Amino acid sequence: MNEARKIIVVGGGITGLTAAYYVRKRLKEAGCTADVTLVEGAEKLGGRIHTLRKEGFVIEKGPDSFLARKLPIIELSRELGLEGELTGTNPEAKKTYILRDGTLHPMPAGLVLGIPTDIEPFMRTGLVSAKGKARAMMDLVLPKKEDDSDESLGHFLHRRLGKEVLDQIVEPLLAGIYAGDTYALSLQSTFPQFGEMEQQYRSLIYGMISNRKKSQQEALNLPAPGRNSVFLTYKNGLQTLVERLEEVLREEGVTIRTGTKVTELRKEGELYEVGYEGGQRETADSVILTLPTYHSAELLGDHPSVDKLRAINYVSVANVVIAYREKDANVKFDGSGFLIPRSEGRSITACTWTSTKWLHTAPEDRVLLRCYVGRSGEEDWVHLTDEEIVAKVRKDVAELMGITAEPLFYEVTRLYRSMPQYPVGHLDHVRELRSDLAERMPGVYVTGAGFHGVGLPDCIRQGREAAFEAVDRLTG
Ligand code: FAD
Repeated sequence: MNEARKIIVVGGGITGLTAAYYVRKRLKEAGCTADVTLVEGAEKLGGRIHTLRKEGFVIEKGPDSFLARKLPIIELSRELGLEGELTGTNPEAKKTYILRDGTLHPMPAGLVLGIPTDIEPFMRTGLVSAKGKARAMMDLVLPKKEDDSDESLGHFLHRRLGKEVLDQIVEPLLAGIYAGDTYALSLQSTFPQFGEMEQQYRSLIYGMISNRKKSQQEALNLPAPGRNSVFLTYKNGLQTLVERLEEVLREEGVTIRTGTKVTELRKEGELYEVGYEGGQRETADSVILTLPTYHSAELLGDHPSVDKLRAINYVSVANVVIAYREKDANVKFDGSGFLIPRSEGRSITACTWTSTKWLHTAPEDRVLLRCYVGRSGEEDWVHLTDEEIVAKVRKDVAELMGITAEPLFYEVTRLYRSMPQYPVGHLDHVRELRSDLAERMPGVYVTGAGFHGVGLPDCIRQGREAAFEAVDRLTG
């Protein structure tokens, strides 16, 4: 590569920040120079990541942690010198509850993603009826599906474990990740390992048991807090990662433009013209779009493959963080929180006992709760004011935990169209889109949470993959 080239990364969420970071890194490794610009529509970087540090509390308004066993975020943390900042959950707060008929029941030991891997505690739980348990155990003898085509997550779990385990345990647990309707979510795009286990072991339960042993082995390679905790975060909040990435990008000479919305993307010969709100334009050899898919679709023109991208539904959710004096709350929290199945008809879908689960998040003698509102099919909250949402949340908090005290403060976060719902066939749609783009717009890459995984480690992996592809095309 002789003359200075340019790569523009659009979107300053975790995918875009990571893409810009790995573009720089790959260019350096290849001994090449190119200008790199990161463009973000909002005034702040981080996208859905937003940590509020207030009165000694560390409050997450978006994501609050990540799965320790997913390596891309561990590798990135190591590269950025953040390994020492990682922290796990309180080992004393392992218990999670699920509401059934108005009562909180502890989740039986050995559930992995809601699938029983320890049969005895599952057989003792009051969460599932005897009939429901017997139906779930049929997974051990039912034949496997004949082909490995995509189906909905709900249909798959219903088929293997029965409706009761799906509704009472698995759906509320997975709702925390996708806020979705399991019958509308693609199995292959959300939990492909379930389908693979069925194909390999025939039984999902047996597959999960075998896999658990493998995961325990793999955990030995994780940094110390990750060996004992399923989830990790940073001691001063997830914003730590965003701040460090921004710092490194600036040191590396990446141009960062915040408050700049991209409104147009046009092919000009071999190059691309990127148009900004307000009329400014810039030309680049390569463009990496890391936006929610409904925004990326606006920039990619009319095409059947883009229509499928545009059609991906994003669910709107909200959360309410409430802080109390410990003596006012007057509750002994002995776990990390609870989940609520749809059938319970509550306003909240789950509650994390944040200050018990994550010891760094609140000063001593203070309590921090985070209540979740909204999921697929339950999005009416968008028409409510913050005060109305808080009133509904406090009613549930009073009825389910007995806390009626006046809070020290609360924070409402509205996350409109934030949870992508991968439809059945999503992987094929993405393949189609990418091959269409490779032909129509070579050098333009689309990625992010709307493609191959919503979790932060998956976003980092996707940002890195797009960065490598873009640089390799320019330098290859
Ligand atoms: P985003 O964060 O959405 O970033 C996209 C960026 O593009 C935004 O900053 C936006 O302003 C910008 N943008 C949009 N249009 C334009 C434009 N035209 N021009 C320029 N910029 C534009 N994951 C976990 O691993 N653990 C969790 O605990 C967890 N909890 C979650 C809780 C909630 C409430 C939500 C919503 C998500 C959660 N997730 C969690 C998922 C994870 O947070 C997201 O999938 C991830 O942050 C998405 O990153 P992204 O960079 O792909 O997209």
